[in-house]
Amino acid sequence: MVRDFFVRFWGVRGSIPCPGPETLRYGGNTSCVEVRFNDHLLIFDAGSGLKRLGDILPLPSAHPIYLFFSHTHLDHIYGLPFFAPVYHPSTQIQLWAGHLAEGQDLSSVVHRIIAHPFFPVDPGAMSAQLSFHDFHAGDTLSLIDGLKIRTVSLNHPGGATGYRVEAGGRSICYITDTEHRPEQLDQGILDLVQGTDIMIYDSTYTDEEYKRFVGWGHSTWQEGVRLAKAANVRMLVTFHHDPTHDDDFLDQIQAEMDIELPGARVAREGMVLRL
Ligand SMILES: [Zn+2]
Ligand SMILES: [Zn+2]
Repeated sequence: MVRDFFVRFWGVRGSIPCPGPETLRYGGNTSCVEVRFNDHLLIFDAGSGLKRLGDILPLPSAHPIYLFFSHTHLDHIYGLPFFAPVYHPSTQIQLWAGHLAEGQDLSSVVHRIIAHPFFPVDPGAMSAQLSFHDFHAGDTLSLIDGLKIRTVSLNHPGGATGYRVEAGGRSICYITDTEHRPEQLDQGILDLVQGTDIMIYDSTYTDEEYKRFVGWGHSTWQEGVRLAKAANVRMLVTFHHDPTHDDDFLDQIQAEMDIELPGARVAREGMVLRL
């Protein structure tokens, strides 16, 4: 039964945090999205936004915390050692990733990054009960009663995973980082997001900017609109904003989307959407 199902945005940027007077309204932290399903906490990506989420969580957590990575580029992982629950011994945290190739695994990636000479404490200092889980993008995960998580492989250097979280006939999709192929909608994404209530989508660039960034692994808000229309998505939320897109620029995108796809939203830090 669904008593409570919502999404909250803690970091909406790509690449690098960009705090400053020109990003106050939409926020400057990198990717981190909280999904609450009843008493369960699911987190998508561990960008710099993860820190503030960790600071408000009551500890110890009565349930495991589920942390899903789209992939492990730095902007999606460097919040992890600043997430207070990882230093809380009686907290269980499950970390999940679906993009790593044969011979690689999430545990060794995390242990490589959070270690000397990149970081002052080693992973052994993270005293929470951490468990690492690798899967193949495309798998379906059933971790919580009443909740189903479907996944898809995304088009990004080194791979990335998109997610659809579904319960009681309602759903939210988290699709970042991915590059579209002009003139052809991504069939894997279309299948995953079909009829979803909320699609969070990699909108790093505008279509105009994208021409200069082919091969960088990112998409555009206009592609998000095309996918949303083709897949009957109820609400598009553009996400993973380029750090150079200031508040005024994002306001302009919102104004253009109001015409192209009424109801679509530009993600901003602190935004809560109920399902
Ligand atoms: Zn990214
Ligand atoms: Zn990336």
